[in-house]
Amino acid sequence: MRHVHVRAPGKINLTLRAWPPTEDGYHPLETVFQAVSLFEDVVARPADEVSVEIHGRGSDLPTDGSNLAVRAAELLRETAGSESGVHLTITKQVPVAGGMAGGSADAAATLIACDQLWGTGLGREELAELAAELGADVPFALTGMSAMGTGRGDLISPVMSRGQYHWVLALQKEGLATPDVFAELDARKDLTRSSSENAEDDGGATIKAGGEVVSALLSADPLILARTLHNDLEEAALALRPELGDVLAAAERAGALAAVVSGSGPTVAALALDAPHAASVADVMRGAEVASEVQVVTGPVAGARVIEQVGRH
Ligand code: ATP
Repeated sequence: MRHVHVRAPGKINLTLRAWPPTEDGYHPLETVFQAVSLFEDVVARPADEVSVEIHGRGSDLPTDGSNLAVRAAELLRETAGSESGVHLTITKQVPVAGGMAGGSADAAATLIACDQLWGTGLGREELAELAAELGADVPFALTGMSAMGTGRGDLISPVMSRGQYHWVLALQKEGLATPDVFAELDARKDLTRSSSENAEDDGGATIKAGGEVVSALLSADPLILARTLHNDLEEAALALRPELGDVLAAAERAGALAAVVSGSGPTVAALALDAPHAASVADVMRGAEVASEVQVVTGPVAGARVIEQVGRH
């Protein structure tokens, strides 16, 4: 039967800087993403309507129009002026609400899959525009590899990276809602302002931090990359989920080079020296029982791409 199979990666944030919200309520961000080998597989088959079924993680996610993959298919259909439908089968490896942009990966994979299935012939650039409409992390899921994200994290500039990095991910059963983490960040900033005269962010230092991670990625040396990991959302995520302090401490005790909360959390990414070191850090972290699951992944990996296509439109 005719189908298109697309795979898109989850991401971690190597660095993330957030400024106070602007008038539109969004926090300007500067982040360096790395796509890692935890994947969302989306298989698209011709159908009369747009529908989705979810396997693996997130089988309790909504399958109506609020599902990001359904929104992606509907947006593409409208844009292309098509009347085709699609049935999407998603197999999720990326944790739901884990700070790894699994929903965004589903949306990116769906755009590519439906574009192929329906033969809409939109270029990569037009698909990237639709991606940005769907959510701030969707453009990166299309691009993959390593990239700097500014604006809401949706303005993507690819970053050159050498070598492969080995990460140990500590996943939690219970996700964190991104808006809650930003709200906590704002509340904490207000506290800082009232207790300190000097609470303004140092824009100069921020630019330097972004530059540091970009050079570190060129070094292919995990020891150098380890020194640059940073997340402005970490304190807020820790305030909402104090147990994450135990995860970070366990990663350190396990001998990780460094560990950081990914995006809005609660996933923690711990950097290892190489594959055997990652396996040993993972074993120790499993023994510490601070996470519902511990996974070893590598990065960077490619963005959303077609894995298999059977039949033509
Ligand atoms: P980010 O890092 O981009 O802020 P996240 O990784 O923390 O996101 P996601 O799993 O991408 O979180 O999605 C967050 C929310 O989006 C979920 O709690 C869910 O309610 C909603 N959602 C809608 N569609 C999907 C989907 N296909 N997969 C996952 N979540 C979805």
